[in-house]
Amino acid sequence: MEKSLTALVEQAGIVGAGGAGFPSHVKYNAKAEYVIINGAECEPLLRVDQQLMAYEANKILQALQLIVDHVGARAGYIALKRKYHDAEEAFYKHINNYPKCKLHFLDNFYPAGDEQVIVYEVTKRIVPEGGLPLNVGVIVLNVETALNVYKAYIDKMPVTEKYLTVTGEVSNQITVKVPLGITVKEAIDLAGGATVNDYKVINGGPMMGKLISTEDVITKTVKGLIVLPENHSLITSLTKDVSSMMREAKTACMHCSLCTEVCPRGLLGHRIEPHKLIRIPSYGNVCDSNTNAINAFLCCGCRLCEYACIQNLQPWKMNAILKNELLNQGIRNNLNLQPDKAAMFREYKKYPVNKLISKLGLTKYDKPAPMIVSEKTFNKVTLPLRQHVGATSDPVIKEGDTVNKGDLIAKISEGKLGSNIHASISGTVISVTSENIRIQM
Ligand code: SF4
Ligand code: SF4
Repeated sequence: MEKSLTALVEQAGIVGAGGAGFPSHVKYNAKAEYVIINGAECEPLLRVDQQLMAYEANKILQALQLIVDHVGARAGYIALKRKYHDAEEAFYKHINNYPKCKLHFLDNFYPAGDEQVIVYEVTKRIVPEGGLPLNVGVIVLNVETALNVYKAYIDKMPVTEKYLTVTGEVSNQITVKVPLGITVKEAIDLAGGATVNDYKVINGGPMMGKLISTEDVITKTVKGLIVLPENHSLITSLTKDVSSMMREAKTACMHCSLCTEVCPRGLLGHRIEPHKLIRIPSYGNVCDSNTNAINAFLCCGCRLCEYACIQNLQPWKMNAILKNELLNQGIRNNLNLQPDKAAMFREYKKYPVNKLISKLGLTKYDKPAPMIVSEKTFNKVTLPLRQHVGATSDPVIKEGDTVNKGDLIAKISEGKLGSNIHASISGTVISVTSENIRIQM
């Protein structure tokens, strides 16, 4: 009997390819009115989704139609930037074959790809505070995730590879498909290696990405590697310690509220006002009886507030500390207001990506990173047992076993949220630990 879409997606180990890695079979096990493929790719310098949409338009449309039918949706949208002309042209060649699929064009602002922002842009529905798109009848997925759905359903292929952009201080800015489990250093070498001696690497985009070591490995959620000189302002921002951040907030905050003016969640009507939360280091509270530290839970960590602040303060870091501290004390978000309208003048407060690139000091790296096909063979991979939201997967192989590319090597832990993991190369299993499985050719 033909398996259902969710069964095939679960079997293939598909997780959100552009975010935290939420298992897709759980997400699609629902009814929804709209499905949105998030093709915004709003993080500066990343070039994966815009090229996948241009090269694989028909497969992405087919995946969208499959999910739309599966969840009983009225329509499916591909939301992409107006400036992605190659992708637009590619979609228009095929879209008439998919009557429920439509395109929605976005302006070039950050963060157009924030899940809640894109839901509003496409449907004009506002996700409640602390909520999910499904609360307003919407499922959102990433472009590469859609491609993985196509591969699972049509080709019966599991997730063994990852597309990523390698950019910044490298010889050639590229976008490339690599096997899961190679090292960050091996991926950087595909781009000709780093062009500076002392550098750091950001995993993801410059706004929401995190520092990663060159010995770390490529997982199902890595979207980009940005190589930057160790003394670049972005690296200084990410590595600034908490006490310096607090001291600067205490002495330099002018209470101008420019950070709040641009906050994308605040502009959707959520009760997040970074200019008040940043008062805590100075006054020990937010100096407003209508709000308190719990409002920090409504921050999505987009970091835009730092780049709106003329003092380079970091309200986002303050919010992250507050969230952590509250969670450690067993306090959870209890804010769930559903605004009936977005903020007045929201349209005029969208933050242009070009301005952001300049403020980030990334103009010199804002170049194409064309998709290349790598012929390189990798002899060894290390596959973490947790590349997703949920529990660590349970190995189903042992040291010394021979595996073929695509074989299941670890499965979802019984009764838990998780994802299957498959061999990304053929070879011998050389070790199985509680953290990872290593395979050598
Ligand atoms: S990081 Fe800053 S701008 Fe972004 S949601 Fe949080 S408070 Fe708002
Ligand atoms: S923009 Fe900067 S100075 Fe102004 S309130 Fe926000 S943190 Fe303070």
